[in-house]
Amino acid sequence: MAHETIAIIGRGLAGLTLGFRMVQAGYQPTLFGAARGPDNASRCAQGIVCNKGLIFADSPLFRAKLQSLKKLEDWLSSVEKASGLAIPRTWTGVDEPYWSADDFQKTFQRVYRGNFWGCYRPQNRPAKDWLSDFRTPEGYVHYPDDAWFDVDATMNSLEKACELKGATFIDSDVTELKTLLDRYDHTIIAAGAGSMELLKALKLEVPKSFQVAGQSLVWKHQPEATPRILVKATLSLAVLSDRKILGSSSWKPDPHHPHDIALDRDQLLDQGAAAFGFPRPSSDVVESNWGTRLRFADRMPALGLWPEQPKLSVLTGFYKNGLQLADLCAEQLLCELQGEPLSEFGEAFHVSRFFRSGRRAPGSPPRHCPLSRSEHKAGT
Ligand SMILES: Cc1cc2nc3c(=O)[nH]c(=O)nc-3n(C[C@H](O)[C@H](O)[C@H](O)COP(=O)(O)OP(=O)(O)OC[C@H]3O[C@@H](n4cnc5c(N)ncnc54)[C@H](O)[C@@H]3O)c2cc1C
Repeated sequence: MAHETIAIIGRGLAGLTLGFRMVQAGYQPTLFGAARGPDNASRCAQGIVCNKGLIFADSPLFRAKLQSLKKLEDWLSSVEKASGLAIPRTWTGVDEPYWSADDFQKTFQRVYRGNFWGCYRPQNRPAKDWLSDFRTPEGYVHYPDDAWFDVDATMNSLEKACELKGATFIDSDVTELKTLLDRYDHTIIAAGAGSMELLKALKLEVPKSFQVAGQSLVWKHQPEATPRILVKATLSLAVLSDRKILGSSSWKPDPHHPHDIALDRDQLLDQGAAAFGFPRPSSDVVESNWGTRLRFADRMPALGLWPEQPKLSVLTGFYKNGLQLADLCAEQLLCELQGEPLSEFGEAFHVSRFFRSGRRAPGSPPRHCPLSRSEHKAGT
């Protein structure tokens, strides 16, 4: 067992995924923050992971998403095995309906940006087998490798797996980063939308970032035999055995003008009903979940040792991609902390990209490694 004391701030998907990597590697981190609450973006994610068949990508962000989707189901199995808690999921593909010939063209132009970028196995299907109480579209595009998993269950499972291997949870928020830096050998900020505030309080210069709030909706329905996962442009709908999950909207939070959540919910329901053809439920049976995501200007996450702060790292800025990228980024952060070389993605997402003085030369060895290697090996 490694001896270093480690604090992780944030119990969203990023913090818990890193916690899981760490306990697998023989560390016993302490995780700070509330398990649930409106600040937790992960608990309101619909759980749909959808790359629409793309196999070539021109940016590291998309390359990372393509690569991590292939490993996601094995990762979920390993979390299930370590915790003993089931994670409901469906890996039978995702469908995108189209309502006219024109809509078909628009759908493909949007997916492939008017070019052929390389796509794997999408099929254009007639809507014979469409959902019985939905309006029937002209047809739909089936993306066979895309999937849905229950994010809430995954997080419960991650918490359990961490706890079983000796991680500690402290329910309160961190108000003073400095106290943790003094008390722990190493501190990692995985606090989602709250990450930059913690750094600013330490008077550190932080990169430009944006907060983007969003809402997803859940309502019960008559039991369905088979789950069906749908997307339409930026909207998505999971039709599960007992409930539907629709998401998501986006808005810029403004402390002076609180967002009208009820109006946003009603608009999202209208858009969803038009995009997917489901019978619109009345608003009062719909549960609303909302949270805030952190986005950097280049839309990529940020991981790694904070320049000039050997006791501090970050794992944040997942924006809309946390479900696919959390484990890949947690693995890369752990590599750096243990002095191992980073992959293409660890280099591309490294936080030093924001600082001219602190920029890592790609392929360069870590300047210091705060954690000793334990005999355990992280990984799935
Ligand atoms: C409505 C909605 C739908 C989404 N749907 C999808 C989807 O279908 N697919 C997908 O890939 N992504 C989706 N996302 C994005 C995804 O949820 C995020 O990328 C991911 O969950 C971010 O995880 P995180 O751990 O970085 O942040 P969070 O889940 O927000 O976790 C950060 C945690 O840190 C805590 N915290 C903040 N400050 C402090 C502090 N000072 N002390 C202690 N704790 C602190 C917060 O309370 C929170 O619990 C969605 C997001 C939203 C909002």
